[in-house]
Amino acid sequence: MTTTGHFDVLIIGAGLSGIGAAHHLQSAFPRRTYVILEARTAMGGTWDLFRYPGVRSDSDMHTLGYRFRPWTQAKAIADGPAILRYIRETATEAGIDKHIRFGHRVVRADWSTPDALWTVEAVQGGDTVRLTTRFLYVCTGYYRYDAGHVPKFCGIDRFGGAVVHPQHWPENLDHSGKKVVVIGSGATAVTLVPALAERADHVTMLQRSPTYILSLPAEDAIANRLRRLLGARRAYPLVRWKNVAVGTLIYQLSRRHPHVVKALIRKAAIRRLPPGYDVDTHFRPRYQPWDQRLCFVPDGDLYTAISRARASVETGRIAEFTETGIRLESGAELQADIVVTATGLQLLALGGIRLAVDGDEVELPETMAYKGMMLSGVPNFAFTVGYTNASWTLKADLVSEYVVRMLGYLDTRGYAQCVPVDNDPSVTERPLLDFQAGYVLRSIDDFPKAGSRRPWQLGMSYAHDVLWLRHGRLDDGVMRFSRPPVPREPVHKPA
Ligand SMILES: Cc1cc2nc3c(=O)[nH]c(=O)nc-3n(C[C@H](O)[C@H](O)[C@H](O)COP(=O)(O)OP(=O)(O)OC[C@H]3O[C@@H](n4cnc5c(N)ncnc54)[C@H](O)[C@@H]3O)c2cc1C
Repeated sequence: MTTTGHFDVLIIGAGLSGIGAAHHLQSAFPRRTYVILEARTAMGGTWDLFRYPGVRSDSDMHTLGYRFRPWTQAKAIADGPAILRYIRETATEAGIDKHIRFGHRVVRADWSTPDALWTVEAVQGGDTVRLTTRFLYVCTGYYRYDAGHVPKFCGIDRFGGAVVHPQHWPENLDHSGKKVVVIGSGATAVTLVPALAERADHVTMLQRSPTYILSLPAEDAIANRLRRLLGARRAYPLVRWKNVAVGTLIYQLSRRHPHVVKALIRKAAIRRLPPGYDVDTHFRPRYQPWDQRLCFVPDGDLYTAISRARASVETGRIAEFTETGIRLESGAELQADIVVTATGLQLLALGGIRLAVDGDEVELPETMAYKGMMLSGVPNFAFTVGYTNASWTLKADLVSEYVVRMLGYLDTRGYAQCVPVDNDPSVTERPLLDFQAGYVLRSIDDFPKAGSRRPWQLGMSYAHDVLWLRHGRLDDGVMRFSRPPVPREPVHKPA
């Protein structure tokens, strides 16, 4: 094992969040040292990993983009390669790429109170390397990179065609002229179906139950006009707030008057689908809008593919795979050359990293998330998990701004350590992702908890979080600060 350096801040993950975190840090503290440890050999995270046809954002790039870097393309719902370019350009223009150590998968991190120091262990090739840092900032996303979720399907081995998961799309898979069945009805399935339908013989979206689907214009006409009028820098905050307001309105309306939103979504689907289409079987979910993430489709592309008979929807349960396709419990058979299992992700908390504080292992489900970004009892530590009801980066930017403020505060007051302490017995536990989607329910017990009230409550409103994280008090009585009993110089442990 080798010790390969000490850094003021150590960021884990070079995806959208990690690159953004580094940008905030180095802009605020140009002289502080930091490093990004990235398990993969490329930056971009999600936007480098997912390569399936048509991969795109399902929220607008004016809010999925960084606060500090305007999104200047005409399309607000952007394709995966454009998002990846945006992340890479952000990193290279600011010199962040030089701070990334690729191929370093972090496996554990140990905090020492006497030393006020994290020791971080990463696996690089066959070796284990060790680094030390004052502040650990985890930007590892929320799911496993090595494997997506695939339910057990009876008879899948006897199927003679190809079975692919969107997380591992084969580079040379040719779907031209083929019959494709996409299992699933989430964001990935509704993205894939119209994209595959352009060249496939036919694409069937096979869903157990329907999802709420809302069509949005791929181009934001107001954003594009404002950018022409005011220039990118001045237009960007206006467009961001406009989109936050629209998103909040849809979310609040969905929660308070679900029947109104249900009726509006149904009406919009009827308008876009062929006359007599069975909207209630295929596009009328059993849950309320925003109990699960609403799926957005740009310019109604899914409905267009259905209207042109390039794609269709089947709603039913799979009985088994056959040699040539899938048999449903209803007895119906779907012929397929290719089956795509768009059946979701496997959630993973904090990139699977084991944490210990002064020799005690941290059991994540026993911790509580402070402001949705730090952990009770874990000093000098922050993590990024974005909103489920709005763009991820809105929260990621706020977490970075908070970390920057906290680091400045520690420095000016001579503190070595900050740790949120949960000792209020009246705070009860809540799930960290308060969301009814299957992929969340499958793994949420492995995650830290949120609490029933502030500062442990999970903020789901960007506007509130702006006040709370960007402007709220750091010394709020829950966050404990301490000066070190030992000198604050870095203490390198022997290799
Ligand atoms: C297909 C798809 C589409 C999406 N579309 C949207 C959208 O439109 N809007 C939205 O808000 N959200 C969307 N999301 C959620 C999306 O993941 C986030 O928006 C965003 O990309 C998350 O960025 P991140 O950097 O936090 O995590 P990631 O993109 O997951 O990046 C995490 C990085 O950390 C690295 N890492 C993980 N564990 C370790 C470890 N132990 N050691 C070292 N490195 C590690 C990974 O290799 C990766 O590079 C989408 C997700 C998917 C899968």
